[in-house]
Amino acid sequence: MKGICVLGATGSIGVSTLDVVTRHSDLYKVVALTANKNIELLYEQCLQHHPEYVVVVDSEKALEFKEKLKNSSISDIKVLSESQSLEFVATLDNVDSVMAAIVGAAGLLPSLAAAKAGKTILLANKEALVMSGDIFMQAVAESGAQLLPIDSEHNAIFQCMPAGYKSGILAKQARRILLTASGGPFRQMPIAEMANVTPAQAVAHPNWDMGRKISVDSATMMNKGLEMIEACILFAMKPDQIQVVIHPQSIIHSMVDYIDGTVLAQMGNPDMRVPIAYSMAWPERFESGVEPLNIFDVRRMDFEEPNLERFPCLRLAYKAIDLGGIMPTVLNAANEIAVEAFLNEHIRFTDIPLIIEQCMEKFEIRPASSLEIILDIDNQARVISEQIINKLFH
Ligand code: NAD
Ligand code: MG
Repeated sequence: MKGICVLGATGSIGVSTLDVVTRHSDLYKVVALTANKNIELLYEQCLQHHPEYVVVVDSEKALEFKEKLKNSSISDIKVLSESQSLEFVATLDNVDSVMAAIVGAAGLLPSLAAAKAGKTILLANKEALVMSGDIFMQAVAESGAQLLPIDSEHNAIFQCMPAGYKSGILAKQARRILLTASGGPFRQMPIAEMANVTPAQAVAHPNWDMGRKISVDSATMMNKGLEMIEACILFAMKPDQIQVVIHPQSIIHSMVDYIDGTVLAQMGNPDMRVPIAYSMAWPERFESGVEPLNIFDVRRMDFEEPNLERFPCLRLAYKAIDLGGIMPTVLNAANEIAVEAFLNEHIRFTDIPLIIEQCMEKFEIRPASSLEIILDIDNQARVISEQIINKLFH
């Protein structure tokens, strides 16, 4: 029996994770669940999985949650809300696996704590890795933690790597990665119309049902930019070894091109329970609850090169990783602020890359050599991005 801690249990990945856990309750026991605010869903999850601990990050919601538990059958669950509670539950002795599924930079410290504690990390929280690349991988290497990517593309690449592959190591015979992207909802919209898209249009993804932030990132293709950086870090490759490929059907989840001309692809229905179940069962496999792929329904698969004029965020991600050092941290922070402003209808969709680019220009390159530097730069980039937004629109 393995103990699992689900960071971000109430999100899209968290819910899919608990769905897989329910199918394998003989193998996994939920030790801890965390949420930001959604205590209604968290309560349902607690009734079903009866964890030892929950963390509710929002302190008022935490008090409300404690009240709710008082006269229930699950009043023995310990409710935490103090800072560092996320790190505490991610490193408990009886936690073997940590699902890192908090969205954004908020997930960095607990994911890093799990890495330092040598846990098996099921990493969905790509922003944490993009921010802290070398430091994160160093923590994994030093503690002997197992890092299994949940992002469907990176999970696909991991599955296409040679037997016994470990994250962070360059697979010598792999020449290139073909990183697939659906192209999001605006792949074919006339570019001039993109300034007018609404948050509701941007979060309506054609193939995947995801949280709001990653859905906007998919629409701008910053998601693919972050994933390109994530792939460089996870697979020790150079940016020019990662080719982004638009594949609108989302059936191939990515490919690895080997020196002998072999290209291995991983395919399946677009459902995150596939990579989640793969990582939870690794190195075995077990059922995920996902329907078998009907290849006759797929009929055809298309591939096209991304248009960087349509998707400037992808260009900015390549620029950030080429500049290196703190720049991916700046890119990520500016993007989080810009996406939030777009979702709150303070800026237009097409302002997102403008704000990120202006923010990046405000920073000199320096190495991202410590966690303190990374957190400081993250904070500075957020403040600067807010200032840019205020200047432009007030
Ligand atoms: P979501 O918005 O649905 O859920 C986010 C979770 O994080 C929630 O449980 C929320 O309570 C928690 N959270 C939010 N802010 C927090 C804070 N400040 N402190 C602590 N917890 C906080 O997001 P999601 O779609 O499940 O995505 C989660 C992560 O997984 C993201 O990094 C995303 O890029 C990645 N990912 C998601 C998918 C997908 O299909 N949804 C696919 C690949 C990767
Ligand atoms: Mg992905």
